[in-house]
Amino acid sequence: MIDIKTDGHVHTRYCHHAVGEMDEYARAAIERGLDKIVFLEHFEAGINYFQPTWASKDDFKLFRKEGESLKEKYSGTLEIGLGVEVGYNPKCVKETIDFLDRYDWDRIGISYHFLHANGQHLNMVSSRKINLDTLEQIGIDKVIRTYYQDLNEAVELLPGTVLCHLDAVLRHYPGLRFTDEHNQIAKDLLLNVAEKKMALEVNTSGFKLRNEPFPALPLLKEAIRLGIPLAAGSDAHKPEDVGRYFDRLPELLNYELEIRN
Ligand SMILES: [Zn+2]
Ligand SMILES: [Zn+2]
Repeated sequence: MIDIKTDGHVHTRYCHHAVGEMDEYARAAIERGLDKIVFLEHFEAGINYFQPTWASKDDFKLFRKEGESLKEKYSGTLEIGLGVEVGYNPKCVKETIDFLDRYDWDRIGISYHFLHANGQHLNMVSSRKINLDTLEQIGIDKVIRTYYQDLNEAVELLPGTVLCHLDAVLRHYPGLRFTDEHNQIAKDLLLNVAEKKMALEVNTSGFKLRNEPFPALPLLKEAIRLGIPLAAGSDAHKPEDVGRYFDRLPELLNYELEIRN
């Protein structure tokens, strides 16, 4: 059910907050015994944030070129996919689609990081105090609702193939607990994911933060019930994190079989 020989979510230095060359990620994947990795580099449009944490359009040109040559270099040893993690910006839908149309992507991941508030953007998945304090002022419930509403819109409007970070909103907010209503909103979003024939990412970076993947098991269970394919991703921002915690995923697979029977 989950292919644990493919890491479908890997970053590189091109996004300005990850380290390591593409080649180093490829070598790490081979060392881990993986068959395939997909570079899923951050794209954002129209974001006003103090630090660019995404690849520019020029970075993407280099990323694509380097990626194509690695595909050849590792042909027969490691399959390499070139993808993009598209951060949604409700105000820049056309610009985003125009950019996506420029290339053939092996994977288009949809995520949502930046909330617009008072002329600037706040990162909803960041651990920085400045983000968390301001988001708290806006209201935790309001931020969560907006996150899902806009993510739903992103699934509708963008040509995504995988939904990333289903429940990553405010993941660093101390003691955050989703209410039943929040969980329901997330489950409703999965209906659209199923309808769009997208996959759902099982992001293993969650194991480090909370000893379970993103999204949480009740949401994964709902995705499975809806027949949504699951795609494993480490969200590696350094080469040694490629394929991290994938050995824990068969546990999920068993769980999956359990509920199917
Ligand atoms: Zn990142
Ligand atoms: Zn990512």
